[in-house]
Amino acid sequence: MSLIRKTAAELGALIAAREVSAVEVAQAHLDRIAEVDGRVNAFLHVDAEATLAQARQVDESLAGGESPGPLAGVPIAHKDVFTTADMPTTAGSKILEGWRPPYDATVTGRLRAAGLVILGKTNLDEFAMGSSTENSAYGPTHNPWDLSRIPGGSSGGSSAAVSAYEAPLSTGTDTGGSIRQPAAVTGIVGMKPTYGGSSRYGLIAFASSLDTPGPFARTVLDAALLHEAFSGHDPLDSTSVDAPVPPVVEAARQADVAGMRIGVVKEFAGEGYQPGVLARFHEAVDLLESLGAKVVEVSCPAFSYALPAYYLIAPSECSSNLARFDAMRYGLRVGDDGTRSAEEVMALTRAAGFGPEVKRRIMLGTYALSSGYYDAYYGQAQKVRTLIMRDFEAAFQQVDALVSPTTPTTAFPIGERADDPMAMYLADLCTIPTNLAGNAAISVPCGLADEDGLPVGLQVMAPVLADDRCYRVGAAVEKAFESRWGGPLLSRAPAL
Ligand code: GLN
Repeated sequence: MSLIRKTAAELGALIAAREVSAVEVAQAHLDRIAEVDGRVNAFLHVDAEATLAQARQVDESLAGGESPGPLAGVPIAHKDVFTTADMPTTAGSKILEGWRPPYDATVTGRLRAAGLVILGKTNLDEFAMGSSTENSAYGPTHNPWDLSRIPGGSSGGSSAAVSAYEAPLSTGTDTGGSIRQPAAVTGIVGMKPTYGGSSRYGLIAFASSLDTPGPFARTVLDAALLHEAFSGHDPLDSTSVDAPVPPVVEAARQADVAGMRIGVVKEFAGEGYQPGVLARFHEAVDLLESLGAKVVEVSCPAFSYALPAYYLIAPSECSSNLARFDAMRYGLRVGDDGTRSAEEVMALTRAAGFGPEVKRRIMLGTYALSSGYYDAYYGQAQKVRTLIMRDFEAAFQQVDALVSPTTPTTAFPIGERADDPMAMYLADLCTIPTNLAGNAAISVPCGLADEDGLPVGLQVMAPVLADDRCYRVGAAVEKAFESRWGGPLLSRAPAL
């Protein structure tokens, strides 16, 4: 089998046993990027020489007898919202074009220390705001299953890179669904860890109380290995949880749901959902039952208000976070010809550097936070947030995990929702409650919709710091479906 088709776990084992070199593995992926990325546009930055130099270092330390971690020498692509000391970081925005961060994010730094080889930085919706990657200032990414469709967003470059076999692993961030929704629509695995379980240090902030780094991979075990490699307490992030990393790798290997109680969220499987998505979802629920889980229906009434609450809280936080792009400290500066005031340069730079969705959110958030409106909008949304947490608490008294479709539809055509923000926002209907409550959730492939032959994702939600349950259920589903399908779902994707 060619190297690009292997899992990260397999590649790590081959490299550790010195059956293949990290350089060969890196080269195979660089060749794949050169072959397909002109059509996919998953990457914003690739530097083949730098990648091969990192791989050479891993090979040298192996030759020197060092015993590496399970992912040493395995290539990875990082969402271009994590800082990297040796590469530009744009957040998909013109306002950061040409900026080179002086330091590594904790996520990128820890993975570098674990010997992962960086292939490059991936495309995203500007400042991670969007569900399609069409809001990138650097052009849309294309879904490898059908190049005329979106790969999800905002981490669409990361999902497309893994699904197109350009990288075995990638990182993403999930503020409202930006890992799970792109994973679902590209037929791969994507996990949002418990908030605070993965560090935000060096992650360009969108909505700080929601932003959560997480892994993309083609198998549940690979996602768990990556999750474990970058997670854990970080004193540089004030909201980092000082608790042991949940046993995610062990759970992915366990792949067993016998005796587990699983709740189907009643509010997330009715009107407005694509029939093929619902059909695959119900099949997955039947599968869980046949594997020995006890399945019950659970009602979470406040979930219906999650979307409006999120679209007050996330823009409010972003309006504050994005104030730092003031033409003075980073990247772009427009109109600084010696005749204009700092305020004028700031206004010109922000007008030229931010795209329309980012501007919409800054205005919305500024309005929601302004005096006189604060209680009615931001304050009210925070109350809804509490109700959503309570719904989760009540549900997790009854069940060990909750399931729903990851997203109401399969990948939509590029352009279809670009001018309709509400339609775009609905892509995150099922993923947002988990961000507001801070608990863990994964998306795993559960088949192809009959009407368009495109991948459908199953979302598994678990309590705070019970991330391992997502992997346990996800791996059981993966194992059972793969034996039914005769291999991974992705092997049914049309060849690129
Ligand atoms: N699509 C959602 C938004 O536009 C979520 C984004 C995210 O998770 N980064 O805000």
